[in-house]
Amino acid sequence: MFEEIRKEQLQTWDKTYLWHPFTQMQEYVKETPLVIAEGKGIYLKDIDGNEYIDGVSSMWCNLHGHRKKEIDDAIKAQLDKIAHSTFLGPTNIPASELGKKLIEIVPNGLSKVFYSDNGSTANEVALKMAFQYWQHKGRRDKTQFIALQYGYHGDTIGTMAVGGIDIYHKVFSPLYFKTHFAPSPYCYRCPLNKIPEDCSMECLGTLEKILQEHADNVAAMIMEPLVQGVGGMLMHPKGYLAGVSKLCKQYDVLLILDEVMTGFGRTGKMFACEHECVVPDLMPLSKGINGGYMPLAATLATQEIYDAFLGEYTHLKTFFHGHTYTGHPLGCAASLASIHLFEKENILENLQPKIKHLKEKLSSFKVLKHVGEIRQCGLIAAIELVKDTKTKEPYSWVERIGIQICLEAKKQGVLIRPLGHIIVIMPPLIITTAELDRLLGVIYESIRTVT
Ligand code: PLP
Repeated sequence: MFEEIRKEQLQTWDKTYLWHPFTQMQEYVKETPLVIAEGKGIYLKDIDGNEYIDGVSSMWCNLHGHRKKEIDDAIKAQLDKIAHSTFLGPTNIPASELGKKLIEIVPNGLSKVFYSDNGSTANEVALKMAFQYWQHKGRRDKTQFIALQYGYHGDTIGTMAVGGIDIYHKVFSPLYFKTHFAPSPYCYRCPLNKIPEDCSMECLGTLEKILQEHADNVAAMIMEPLVQGVGGMLMHPKGYLAGVSKLCKQYDVLLILDEVMTGFGRTGKMFACEHECVVPDLMPLSKGINGGYMPLAATLATQEIYDAFLGEYTHLKTFFHGHTYTGHPLGCAASLASIHLFEKENILENLQPKIKHLKEKLSSFKVLKHVGEIRQCGLIAAIELVKDTKTKEPYSWVERIGIQICLEAKKQGVLIRPLGHIIVIMPPLIITTAELDRLLGVIYESIRTVT
């Protein structure tokens, strides 16, 4: 426990000196900041000693819980050797070992690893690689991209150009390259006004029309496989991903599958694309790459793409991209330990009954008056709240319904972060069924109290 004076100081310093991401600071400074001091397993503890379930895995990245001994030990062991040395030129031991390990676990066909340090950058790398690949192939008109409405790939200018969420992306639009947006298969609010009984995935037909018209100018299509996260945890119907993959191949457009959120077990398989046996041309990874410990990311590429960048220095085919902390030894050591835990602790196998349990328990939320749709994929769940379940009238952003529910849950020892009117549940993979019950119980009560 921190002394009262020290606590106040920390909170004041935070409000005086810091600027938080995706946060309206005018509102933020009116409240007392929550200062996290410790964590263990699925729990976080604040400076007052209050304990909370980490209901969104510290922004969707924690897998094995906090202070997992094996990962802590791997980082400490690496720290005893060296914290960081540049990857521009030399390599390092954990980065090299992790490269081999990643290629062993990703879908067959991906054979090269390009490191970076966050999800946005892993996607930015993929976009740049796709663009430059076609330049080297002599297809210089392939300079545009296709993305999905409601897609989120990061907040760099490149990734925002392929982002489909107006509230985040529209203001910067004068800075973007050309992107064609295909409809998202958001079945609860189908953009093509179909109902499930009457649907033969016409949204794929719309995508095909875009490809027919523009494929000669399109370098790649980028999408989140199975679940569009930030857009509202929108879960795609079975067969959609395989359909996109087939169309991209048919029209000679590269496929970038952004597995930043879905990678490393989140959907019940190691990678979401495995559910539909799809192998992308480029696959950006981050968040779960080292169990949520350190900034690290990787963009996986096929041999075909890699080979297109080979040549004499003077041919200027080099991929001119890289950051100071690329291939960070501590992050890579943590990642090796995290991947090892998947094998040692049968994480994926043990996950299956929890996924089933989550599904059963979520069905009880249907009786709540304002629950419009309950969505689940693996250990990702979302509850879309509506004003009226018959008309599906949504709560508007300004009503802050999600925020109010999260504040109520916080009072009861659960930390979650909404996506507008959508409540997101995404605990660490190691959560037990009893802990899941407690988490869901608090969320249920919070929705009931607030709506
Ligand atoms: N891609 C997806 C699918 C994401 O969910 C996110 C973040 O939520 C990103 C990319 C961006 O990752 P980062 O916040 O590490 O830049």
